[in-house]
Amino acid sequence: MNNKKLIDSLTAKGITDAAVLDAIGKIPRERFVEQPFRTVEMCYGESPLPIGHNQTISSVYTVALMTQALALDKKHKVLEIGTGSGYQAAVLSLLSASVFTIERIRDLSLKARRIIESLNIHTVTFIIGDGSIGFREYAPYDRVLITACSPDIPLSLFNQLDEGGIMVAPVASNGFQNICVIEKKNGTMFSKEIAPANFVKLIGKNGYEAQTSKRCGF
Ligand code: SAM
Repeated sequence: MNNKKLIDSLTAKGITDAAVLDAIGKIPRERFVEQPFRTVEMCYGESPLPIGHNQTISSVYTVALMTQALALDKKHKVLEIGTGSGYQAAVLSLLSASVFTIERIRDLSLKARRIIESLNIHTVTFIIGDGSIGFREYAPYDRVLITACSPDIPLSLFNQLDEGGIMVAPVASNGFQNICVIEKKNGTMFSKEIAPANFVKLIGKNGYEAQTSKRCGF
């Protein structure tokens, strides 16, 4: 898909933030996708794609939607939970000052790091571990993005959000998932749902246990 077609299709679905569209246009998504899925239809299609270890890269629309909901600024320090392929972290890096991304599966983190560094992006810090507890060493964060479905809005992560900050996260509810935009105003949480979602589970101390089934809400 050429850039214009991609941008037009995202705009038609409600992605109107020019900086987000620009960042999506600049990051070569095919570099983060496994060889069998590197066709235009698959790479830029509506479904998440496998990246190994039973995990997925989110669709380009989901990445754009969550990124837009973060309302990023070039001065922001961002925490991402669920590095996965590294694609979302690469997009975030073009819109913020620094990105801290946590992945519990070592191989995925190492691979994502190789790809992102090969793109000459040097503002992403890779952490291997349980992101459901956040990463206190660098807190507070202006923005937090969770890219795996959580059983509840994780308080540990809300607590690491700076005053006036925004967290975007897929959260399970009655057998379904919704992408929630959570704001911290005067220390209080304000949350709204913006779209249904279909993410793999957040596994960890403040997420699901490792042996429960792959997708949350079911
Ligand atoms: N952001 C990714 C990308 O751009 O490819 C997609 C993330 S994928 C949908 C969800 C990722 O969250 C998986 O790689 C999974 O291993 C990771 N994950 C699940 N629970 C986690 C946890 N507690 N801490 C860190 N990573 C976690």
